[in-house]
Amino acid sequence: MIDHCYDYAEAAHGAGRPIVGIMCEFTPREIILAAGGVPVCLCGGSAATIPAAEQHLPANLCPLIKSTFGYHVTGKNPFLNWADLVVAETTCDGKKKMFELMGASKPMYVLELPQKAEAPDALEHWVLELRKFQQHLATRYATDITEAKLIQAIQLMNRERSLRRQLADLMTLETPPLTGRQLLDFKSIISGVEADLQQYEHALERYGGTSGSAQTPNHVSRFTNHVSPVRVLLTGVPLAHGAERVLELIENVGAVVVCMENCTGLKPILEDVDLDSESDPIRAIAKKYYHLPCSVMTPNPRRFQSLRALAAKFRPQCVIELVWQACLTYDVESWQVRKLAEEELRVPYLKITTDYSPSDSVRITARVEALFETGRAKAG
Ligand code: SF4
Ligand code: SF4
Repeated sequence: MIDHCYDYAEAAHGAGRPIVGIMCEFTPREIILAAGGVPVCLCGGSAATIPAAEQHLPANLCPLIKSTFGYHVTGKNPFLNWADLVVAETTCDGKKKMFELMGASKPMYVLELPQKAEAPDALEHWVLELRKFQQHLATRYATDITEAKLIQAIQLMNRERSLRRQLADLMTLETPPLTGRQLLDFKSIISGVEADLQQYEHALERYGGTSGSAQTPNHVSRFTNHVSPVRVLLTGVPLAHGAERVLELIENVGAVVVCMENCTGLKPILEDVDLDSESDPIRAIAKKYYHLPCSVMTPNPRRFQSLRALAAKFRPQCVIELVWQACLTYDVESWQVRKLAEEELRVPYLKITTDYSPSDSVRITARVEALFETGRAKAG
C-alpha cells in the first residue's frame, strides 16, 4: 500500500495536484478532495526519526508527535516533502505546540476543534471552522469548491468507508480469514484513490463470507497449537505506519485482533457523511467528523457507546488498550475503559503504555500471555 501511495502521490504531484498533509482523523478529507487536493496522512510511526525531533521537542512526549516532527526536520518523508500544505487541528497539547514549530517552515492551516462533543454551540463553531477551511483552500488553489464537488467527494469517501467497514466485518466470523495485522495493511495513507477501492472490492470477493484461518506461518506460537486464538479488541491510540509492533506482539502469542477501535481502525469509518438528513454538504461533513470519539473530547461518551456496540458485534475475549507514552488524554480515559471492560463486558483488560522502541517487547509479551491465561482460566 505504501509503495502504491508513493507512486500515486509522486504522479499527482508531478501533474500539479496539490498534496495536502493531514495529521488527524478530524481533518475532513472531503473538502481537500473537492479542492482537487490529495489528502495524505503524515503521522510518523518510525523510531528512527525521534532523536532528531528531540533536538527541538521534550523527550517525554508522545512518540507519534516526535516521529512526525522528526520526519519534518530530517526531510525523510517524501509525502511531507511534497506537501504544499499541512492541515492540523487543536487536539492534544503536544500536537498543537508541535504544529507551531512545524509551521515555522511549512505552510500550515490549523482548524480550531472545539472539545465539548455534546454541546450544540461547539458544533456550530466547527461548522464555521470548516467553512473557513473551504474558503482557504478555494483561494489557495484558485478553484471553486462547489456543492457538486463536495457531494462527489462525500460519495467517494462514503464508498471508501463502507468498503473498509465490510472488510473489518470479516473479523466477526468465528475463524476470521485475516489477522488484525493483515487487515491493517489494507489501510491506505491516501484517501479517495479509485484503485484502492477496487482492491478493497477484490479482497471482499476473495475473503467475503468465507471463514478461514487467521494464523499465518509467522503467527504460530506454543499457545496456538491446541487452542483457538484469543479474540482481542484493541483500543486506545492509533498505530501509525511503522508502529505496528504491539499489534504484532499480541498476535504472535496466540490471538487475533478482531476489532481495532482506534483511529487506524474502525473509529473514523463507523459513521458516514449523511446527506439524507442534512442537505448542506459542509454541515453534513462537520457533523460526521465532530462525532469522532477521540479522548481529546470532554466528556467522550460516544467512545464508550461505540466500545459496547463493537464488543457485542466482534465478541472479544479480552480488551487491550494501547497508550503511547505521555498521551495524557488516552491515559486518563483508560480508567473508564478498564471499568467498562471488567464490569460491563466482563472480559479481562490490559493497558500497555509504551513508545516506539522495541526495548520492552519481552515485557509486553509476558503481560499479554498472562492476560490470555487469565481469560482462559476464567472461561474454562
Ligand atoms: S486519536 Fe484523536 S488526535 Fe489522534 S488521530 Fe485520532 S482523532 Fe486525531
Ligand atoms: S497519541 Fe495522544 S498524545 Fe499522541 S498525538 Fe494522539 S492524542 Fe496526542
